[in-house]
Amino acid sequence: TYVVTENCIACKYTDCVEVCPVDCFYEGENTLVIHPDECIDCGVCEPECPADAIRPDTEADSDAWVAFNRKYAELW
Ligand code: SF4
Repeated sequence: TYVVTENCIACKYTDCVEVCPVDCFYEGENTLVIHPDECIDCGVCEPECPADAIRPDTEADSDAWVAFNRKYAELW
């Protein structure tokens, strides 16, 4: 899965939402989030983010970000 990270805070762009083929972006408290079970790992959103906030879950600190994204995505 891809995850939304801290640079998304207060970002007003929704370019990522527009390109996602499976509509798996949801609104969190002050960021967007990606539902980890719905993301198909296509990677299309990553270069579209003007804040460089979207990353693959293969990075070192990704577990916490996956949990963060899941928490808010599952509220919907
Ligand atoms: Fe959507 Fe693809 Fe980004 Fe996952 S990687 S959130 S499926 S655009």
